[in-house]
Amino acid sequence: MKKLTLINDEATNQLGSKIAMEILKSSSQEIEIHLEGDLGAGKTFISRSIIKNCGWKDLVKSPTYTLCEEYDFNNLMFLHIDLYRTNEAEDIDIFDLSRKINSKKVVLIEWPERLQHERSFDLKIVFSHLPEGREVSLISGDNDFKEWLKAYE
Ligand code: ADP
Ligand code: MG
Repeated sequence: MKKLTLINDEATNQLGSKIAMEILKSSSQEIEIHLEGDLGAGKTFISRSIIKNCGWKDLVKSPTYTLCEEYDFNNLMFLHIDLYRTNEAEDIDIFDLSRKINSKKVVLIEWPERLQHERSFDLKIVFSHLPEGREVSLISGDNDFKEWLKAYE
């Protein structure tokens, strides 16, 4: 686990860009990132940064209303999910996250606390508000991001 202080948007964007580099470098075909933190903490903001820094040139919308937004480009497929509005009857199965695809699949989940069944992640980012800026805790799973996190500075 590593704690960082991100003093402004630009610092969050830099973290997003480093995560994007690791996604592009990674040999795994499936990467899952969980994003925790209050409303307005930066979950969508960093998702946008990650997706754009991987090469997406168009808009990255918040999936707050649609629940899932998909981006399919350059042999990458991002599934960006926001579980904030899901109710208990709904299940993440509707997003078909385990679909077989030829691209590298990157699943980004905002509000993973609402998952009915815990899922393993490669990286978890927990945001909290500071009087100015944000504090983030980075927690890696067992794969790629483990070494990345050790080397992070
Ligand atoms: P949510 O976590 O609900 O998805 P958003 O990502 O939509 O929140 O909004 C985050 C807000 O915080 C944005 O307005 C963004 O500009 C701002 N923000 C992102 N990183 C920082 C930071 N390190 N310091 C201050 N504000 C930030
Ligand atoms: Mg959001």
